[in-house]
Amino acid sequence: MRDRDVPQPSARRQFKYIRRQLRIFRRHHVSTLQQGLILIAACTIVLYSVFFTNVLAIHDFFHELRHALGIIPCH
Ligand SMILES: [Zn+2]
Repeated sequence: MRDRDVPQPSARRQFKYIRRQLRIFRRHHVSTLQQGLILIAACTIVLYSVFFTNVLAIHDFFHELRHALGIIPCH
């Protein structure tokens, strides 16, 4: 099945979903310190995935980048 054959939710429905998620997020009163910690944790997970993970799909996708940077030998 091609991508354009998959029915996509309308923009209005997507914005409605995003607004609902933001409302739920705001209700939790996350402090600036907590926001910073969440951001650092998210960045750490992404960087670990890009540079150190052995999950084959992720490793292979970023293989050229690892070698181009020359700081992380993988073999
Ligand atoms: Zn390599």
